[in-house]
Amino acid sequence: MPLSPDQQAEIDAQRAQSQPTLRATSPGIEAQLYRAHPVLDHGFVRVIDYMGDDAAITQAARVSYGRGTKSVQNDEGLIRYLMRHWHSTPFEMCELKLHVKLPVFVARQWIRHRTANVNEYSARYSVLDREFYIPAPEHLAAQSSINNQGRGATLEGDEAARVLETLKADSDRAYDHYEQMMGQEGQQGLARELARMNLPANVYTQWYWKVDLHNLFHFLRLRADPHAQYEIRVYAEVICDLVRDWVPLAYAAFEEYRLGAAQLSATGVQVVRRMLAGEEVTQETSGLTKREWAELMGVIG
Ligand SMILES: Cc1cc2nc3c(=O)[nH]c(=O)nc-3n(C[C@H](O)[C@H](O)[C@H](O)COP(=O)(O)OP(=O)(O)OC[C@H]3O[C@@H](n4cnc5c(N)ncnc54)[C@H](O)[C@@H]3O)c2cc1C
Repeated sequence: MPLSPDQQAEIDAQRAQSQPTLRATSPGIEAQLYRAHPVLDHGFVRVIDYMGDDAAITQAARVSYGRGTKSVQNDEGLIRYLMRHWHSTPFEMCELKLHVKLPVFVARQWIRHRTANVNEYSARYSVLDREFYIPAPEHLAAQSSINNQGRGATLEGDEAARVLETLKADSDRAYDHYEQMMGQEGQQGLARELARMNLPANVYTQWYWKVDLHNLFHFLRLRADPHAQYEIRVYAEVICDLVRDWVPLAYAAFEEYRLGAAQLSATGVQVVRRMLAGEEVTQETSGLTKREWAELMGVIG
């Protein structure tokens, strides 16, 4: 578990307190508040706070004076309509604040999503823990031979053992040197802000990350996708489960119109229409490149 007993006790104490509120609450996410959901070997995702629920989306869409809900069925229809037609601003009325612990190389991909607010643990001010991501053997994959940005089969035998040993030994040695540089008895010690440059990209960092639901869906569509790197995808999958608990109607619409949906090019639509009309279309006669053809066949099976 990535939490110390003290940290778990702090979370338990926070969960033991509650206050009455006039604000909209979502029972599904209330049940998850503050809890750490483990990810990878030392990481986690925790919900720290949230604003809004499914009804807040329809309330904003209707610019209502009260809660703005009609019936659940009515709200569900409106949310699906908004999602289907890219009417995105009502989804921006909901916000989620997470505490995430993640390896630095995952954080580098994550931080590219600029439409969020971030505050990261300061390695100038504090000493980082000796915590490094070491992949589980089943995730120790070879370079893909067909996709420069992907993985192939899992490494096996001596090669797998050697790679794991190298990762562990390098991480440990770098951390030993990090500690030594920051000083021992009778030495001045290098500043923490400089000593950290020695640490590899599999060291863990932490941040608070706050984002609105529209931009969170954008993040999840890219990072929960099967093509996303496994190490960020597992975080996105945990967040998907939390969002499903928080705003079940909006999440169902997201699954339907984004996550499980596919986009076709104009030529791709023409190809499908020609096929439906009974024409035998091949890649050569489709007007698509080989890669586009393979992608279209992947969509329509
Ligand atoms: C599979 C995959 C592979 C990738 N490979 C690479 C790579 O090789 N190299 C690399 O550098 N990145 C790579 N990325 C990162 C990618 O290019 C995006 O930076 C990242 O996905 C964030 O997307 P975003 O900019 O849409 O999100 P956000 O930053 O959240 O922005 C959301 C939207 O807001 C608008 N926006 C936000 N800020 C600005 C701005 N400053 N100017 C204009 N519009 C803005 C844009 O419309 C944007 O789509 C990859 C991402 C994925 C998913």
